Amino acid sequence: MFEEDRLELVNSLRKKGITDERVLDAMLKVERHLFVPEAVRHHAYKDIALPIGYGQTISQPYTVAIMTQALKVQPGHKVLEIGTGSGYQAAILYEMGAKVFTIERNYELYNRALKIFDELNLRIAARCSDGTIGWEEFSPYDRIIVTAGSPSIPKNLKKQLAIDGILVIPVGDRQTQVLKILTKISEEEFRVNEIPYFAFVPLVGKEGWNGK
Ligand code: SAH
Repeated sequence: MFEEDRLELVNSLRKKGITDERVLDAMLKVERHLFVPEAVRHHAYKDIALPIGYGQTISQPYTVAIMTQALKVQPGHKVLEIGTGSGYQAAILYEMGAKVFTIERNYELYNRALKIFDELNLRIAARCSDGTIGWEEFSPYDRIIVTAGSPSIPKNLKKQLAIDGILVIPVGDRQTQVLKILTKISEEEFRVNEIPYFAFVPLVGKEGWNGK
């Protein structure tokens, strides 16, 4: 279902500058319409963010593509995602051969994601907690991706990243953020690249924003 729409979406991402064929390939395979509420399903293959309930959104496909491309995921990589939301980004990483660990703070969204992972037989490790403190048990991670906007870079995430690992995180105020791409050079040193102008829902937690 929706195969043509998916192909059209992927072609539009290519035109917008996404060049990593492995990312485009994963986006061609993962059925985004299964990750969004039925009421907005007919919009699933437009390049827009969509509401998934509880004031949260599934990121715009272009944003998913650019973040995943920046992450340079290789098969077998251990990847930690903060902000499971719909589960779509986690499914893309899984499709690319990563071992995916994902954290969601909203219990309803967490449960919904577990259900879809199960239905699609995606073996993704998920937990419901505050992702700003990471998931120490399985660290270090080769890659960490944060899909909500943060006021700063949580120190535990830096700590739980492997040497040579890459962390992608939107940092800024509550409205707009720049995408920070950190490469860990040593225990204390990071190389940082930035891609401007994104708008994510807030990362709420101990090392994120306060309240709702
Ligand atoms: N990757 C998601 C995008 C979801 S939007 C997708 O593909 O659909 C960001 C999500 O981050 C929201 O579901 C929100 O509840 C969650 N979130 C916000 N702060 C968090 C935190 N501290 N820990 C874990 N999840 C958090």
